[in-house]
Amino acid sequence: MTAATVDLSVVLPVYNEADNLPILWEELVAVLPGVASAAEVIFVDDGSTDGSADVVEGLAKTDSRIRFIRFETNAGLSAAFYAGFQAARGRIVVSMDSDLQNDPRDIPLLIARLDGADVVVGWRQIRRDGWLRRISSTVANRVRTRLTQDPVADSASSFRAMRRECLAAIPPYAGMHRFVPTLVKLAGFRVVEIPVSHRPRRFGASKFGVRNRALRAFIDLLAVRWMIRRRLRYRIAQRPCDLDADVSGAAARPQETREQPR
Ligand code: UDP
Ligand code: MG
Repeated sequence: MTAATVDLSVVLPVYNEADNLPILWEELVAVLPGVASAAEVIFVDDGSTDGSADVVEGLAKTDSRIRFIRFETNAGLSAAFYAGFQAARGRIVVSMDSDLQNDPRDIPLLIARLDGADVVVGWRQIRRDGWLRRISSTVANRVRTRLTQDPVADSASSFRAMRRECLAAIPPYAGMHRFVPTLVKLAGFRVVEIPVSHRPRRFGASKFGVRNRALRAFIDLLAVRWMIRRRLRYRIAQRPCDLDADVSGAAARPQETREQPR
């Protein structure tokens, strides 16, 4: 499989998910042929200490669609996604957790909705997490919407299908995985949310609690608000005829052609 032939890349961050990985792989194998003629699956091991890397290596020996990145030590979820996105070769990139809370059977729904959108976010309408986690996520989404003026129901959902050109809009900073919908809109792309199923965690433990999340996520939110407010915005009234028509204030797309959050 060469880079030019990959239709779909699935990017999976892994931090101590050894028991989940073989089941996840089986579920993916059942779904992938129906959505892409040539798919690759990129596991990014974020410094696991429970043997997850060995499990991925074992799976990779059985299937050439698997590609594997292993960090030296734990670097965090934003880093794992970022490294996976850098390696992704597909025209479409799907990101999802590797703990079985997302259901690979929703991948075809996310991809189908890309017709008319650049990013489709899987909205975990019925969260299968503990009560404290559910309440804190509801509060976080409200505060986020208030400060960004961007009404996203489930901003931190990792389960998404994206056209690969959108990846350039996700900056290489910790915590940015929680703000992908707003960041890609800011770069001029179209984002929609559709409901997806969410399953309780069966094996392993959640890596995020209210304590290690709330303050950091709030500081990150202020950074994103700064980006929204300070984004370069200008319209060119006249340009030299040798300047490409697409060159304007936006890093990824001309701002004039797309809706902005604010
Ligand atoms: N994860 C990661 N690095 C980390 C923390 C988490 O790669 O430092 C991965 C983890 O293995 C899982 C996904 O990120 O695939 C989401 O983590 P988790 O399930 O703990 O988060 P929650 O669903 O509780 O928000
Ligand atoms: Mg989880």
